[in-house]
Amino acid sequence: MKLLQEMVLKHGKVFPNNVLKVDSFVNHQIDAPLMKAAGDAFFDYFKNKGVTKVLTIEASGIAPALMTALCFGVPMVFAKKTQPSTLKKDTLYETEVFSFTKNVVSRVILSKEYLTSDDKVLIIDDFLANGGAVIGLDDLVKQAGAQTVGVGILIEKSFQDGRKKLEDNGFDVRSLCRIASLDDGKICFENEE
Ligand code: 5GP
Repeated sequence: MKLLQEMVLKHGKVFPNNVLKVDSFVNHQIDAPLMKAAGDAFFDYFKNKGVTKVLTIEASGIAPALMTALCFGVPMVFAKKTQPSTLKKDTLYETEVFSFTKNVVSRVILSKEYLTSDDKVLIIDDFLANGGAVIGLDDLVKQAGAQTVGVGILIEKSFQDGRKKLEDNGFDVRSLCRIASLDDGKICFENEE
């Protein structure tokens, strides 16, 4: 998506360990028109998949996931990283996700109420690095007996393992901006199809 590429080039900052900081429009301050455009793009690509629910992980996936859910006219649900006292253990699905940026494993949870065996789930996230977040979310989908019908990503770092891992597992992955390298602090994109 041209608009996203332009914003990544203009505002993205490369940090050590191949971390791209996009706090000014995705991860801290959020550009609402950009998120709406992302939702439209994901709808356009996945519209024939029978999506009944959009799933993401808090916090940064929520904005693009919500805009996507609005386009599909379905609910958006997000996996939580902390368990509220109102959610009892036997009422939730849980899994573990390795955080690429924080280098820790977190337990994430989802209420059984919001994902059921007839759901066709579109997973949305802000970044794809090594695929841990998406694989964790898909594990929650599997626990519910539901089906992941697609994966939509704002920014994919194509030089990391995530896309290959997801494709090898049969996922249909649509990334709106694909980064070929961040070497020497320079952002280079994959050729857009
Ligand atoms: P994965 O699970 O695919 O290894 O990493 C994806 C998750 O890690 C995303 O949910 C995102 O929050 C975070 N992430 C991975 N790489 C980056 C990055 O370069 N910049 C930012 N801001 N977040 C990242």
